[in-house]
Amino acid sequence: MHRLKNKRCVITGAGRGIGAAIARTFADEGAEVIVTDRLLKRAQNIAAEIGGIALELDVSQEAHWQQLASLYPHIDVLVNNAGITGFDDNLVAHDPEHATLENWRAVHAINLDGTFLGCRYAIQAMRKKGNGSIINISSRSGLVGIPAAAAYASSKAAIRNHTKTVALYCAQEGLNIRCNSVHPGAILTPMWDPMLGEGPERDKRLKAFVADTPLQRFGTPDEVAAVCLLLACDEASYMTGSEINIDGGLLAGSAVSPQQTENP
Ligand code: NAP
Repeated sequence: MHRLKNKRCVITGAGRGIGAAIARTFADEGAEVIVTDRLLKRAQNIAAEIGGIALELDVSQEAHWQQLASLYPHIDVLVNNAGITGFDDNLVAHDPEHATLENWRAVHAINLDGTFLGCRYAIQAMRKKGNGSIINISSRSGLVGIPAAAAYASSKAAIRNHTKTVALYCAQEGLNIRCNSVHPGAILTPMWDPMLGEGPERDKRLKAFVADTPLQRFGTPDEVAAVCLLLACDEASYMTGSEINIDGGLLAGSAVSPQQTENP
């Protein structure tokens, strides 16, 4: 099909998980993919697999974006995918009462500042052609409160709002640069490892995490990549400032919905 033929696409945090799936999907559709991650080796592995270009890029470092701009002053698609929960250190509390300022800032520096820097780079790198697509990976956690992950939820909510600001700004400037956000629910990637643990308890936790999800399972990185492909393509030319949930139906209902019992 090659729906992304002749398009240069940059993906952040693409060394594993959802970003790697997006890189594979875009390459399958004929894109020139620039696979970036803060760990160069990971980016190189995926780039070698798909015939892409690997680059070390820590999204929170302005100098890394400047380097990217000097190497690739023109692009067609940017996926701001890199993100962290901050849960790597299990000893740190993440609720609004006990979270440390250090942890709060560390999560925002990557999730939010990284997305801001990415959008700024992308607008400049798309301006000459006058068109392009910026895809910001937010989260279901950016749409609802998450008591156990205050910084993560706050950063993802801010990404949702900044997406709309970027979309409006580009439209005001007369640019056909679209900017949309994607809101995954629970997608099974290595990001979940600190929360799922190992051993026999892992299976129990896997089930518990999706017990309230109508589709009763985790999503896959490929399912998120398919939505990103749509947003990257020219077919989505009237979509900007939009948000797409991909959450197995989680946000469609409410825990207090009346249940149908026996006879209707
Ligand atoms: P993942 O498996 O942890 O992969 C993320 C990749 O980004 C890792 O290679 C990670 O490297 C890298 N990364 C972290 N900080 C970075 C930085 N400063 N600069 C560049 N790369 C960095 O996570 P994922 O599940 O694929 O998540 C991808 C995105 O989807 C994130 O924004 C996440 O918040 C969002 N999301 C995920 C889910 C889900 O259920 N998985 C749900 C909603 C939203 P390190 O290993 O070094 O950190």
